[in-house]
Amino acid sequence: MTMPPMIFLDNNSTTQALPEVIEAMQPYWRELYFNPSSIVGELTGCVTPIREAKQTLCEILNASDPSEFTLTSGATEANNWVFHSVVAANKKAGRSTHLLVSAIEHPSVLEAAMAADHNSSVEYTLAPVNTDGVIDTEAIMSLIRPETRLISVMLANNESGVIQPIGELARKIKELYPWCLFHTDATQAVGKFSIDLTGELSAVDYLSLSAHKFHGPKGIGALFIRRGRSLAPLLHGGGQQEGRRAGTDNPPLAAGMAIALRRTASDMDCQSSRMASLREDMEAKIELIGSGIQILGKNVKRLPNTTFLFFQNIEGEVLVHQLVENGVAVSSGSACSQGSDRPSHVATAMGIEYAKARNTLRISLSRLTTEQEISSFINVLTDCLMKPRKARSGAGKSADWKAKKGPGET
Ligand code: PMP
Repeated sequence: MTMPPMIFLDNNSTTQALPEVIEAMQPYWRELYFNPSSIVGELTGCVTPIREAKQTLCEILNASDPSEFTLTSGATEANNWVFHSVVAANKKAGRSTHLLVSAIEHPSVLEAAMAADHNSSVEYTLAPVNTDGVIDTEAIMSLIRPETRLISVMLANNESGVIQPIGELARKIKELYPWCLFHTDATQAVGKFSIDLTGELSAVDYLSLSAHKFHGPKGIGALFIRRGRSLAPLLHGGGQQEGRRAGTDNPPLAAGMAIALRRTASDMDCQSSRMASLREDMEAKIELIGSGIQILGKNVKRLPNTTFLFFQNIEGEVLVHQLVENGVAVSSGSACSQGSDRPSHVATAMGIEYAKARNTLRISLSRLTTEQEISSFINVLTDCLMKPRKARSGAGKSADWKAKKGPGET
């Protein structure tokens, strides 16, 4: 099926793989398709991309050693791995476990914490953010208990783009509660601003990332496990990746991730300021459209590519459909389009009342977004907002995160 050209402004859900990424993967699909753990795979260099991906992650995220990275199928696996293994280790040691996670985490963190909570010796608490979407450090500190084993706060939020003060928070926690492990989901941050695991983030124990958010392939990511921190494997089987993650290694995806990371890191500052200025221009024009539009998180440090809009009277999903029909892909910020009835938990955490938390729209740019695309988007959005709209049924139902968990949040 040939698709008409689409203005893609949903880059926090995924990004287009760069041509050099696709190119770098080719040999490992074609002639070098051998299993990297086999003798022929080793002799022909099929294991090289695995090593190079870890080396690249180590260099670009300024870790101490490539062995601190384990390749995974993406951030969902990395996040689940941390929760599952920390809980299992404490259970084995006969200790009760308290997990502390921010209220704005991605479902792969929230639901991993919830799944662990089914275990009788485990409890989790959601830590609040303020109305700008920034984690409340004092609240986090006051929620820590003697049995708090793991704290997880993301580096940048996928809906609002708000950047969290992770370095400072993790340092404070380690100073006062050295037994607490600290995890950060950096999926939306990698490739957009610099990450320093031996500097600013030196108090972080675990960090998750995913290649398809920085123009790499889907289905690969990594978990950083700081040297000296142990984490029992989630997947058991073969002894791949020093026994940390069983399953045949994936050289093409590893090669693609390494190139994507090098490429995005090479001109990150320049691309980030280009996106920030495109976004600034776009937001100024959006604010001129009408008075009922609010830009959430506008006054705090945000990713340069993300705008999270709140409308007084329009459901985001209705707008998403209208925009897609007119050739623009954005996201509502909630998971409604995947069949869930759940409004944005990020918007509610930022103080938007539940009945209106479906009235959000997330626009996310990438290094490939052009000025022309933004200007066409503004025209289409203006037209959509002027048209009479049909309301979705079911609006205003009350529910909480647990009752309304839904699939497919991006
Ligand atoms: N965490 C965040 C913040 C994300 O945005 C996403 C993807 N939308 C994930 C985790 C899951 O990543 P993956 O697709 O690699 O499983």
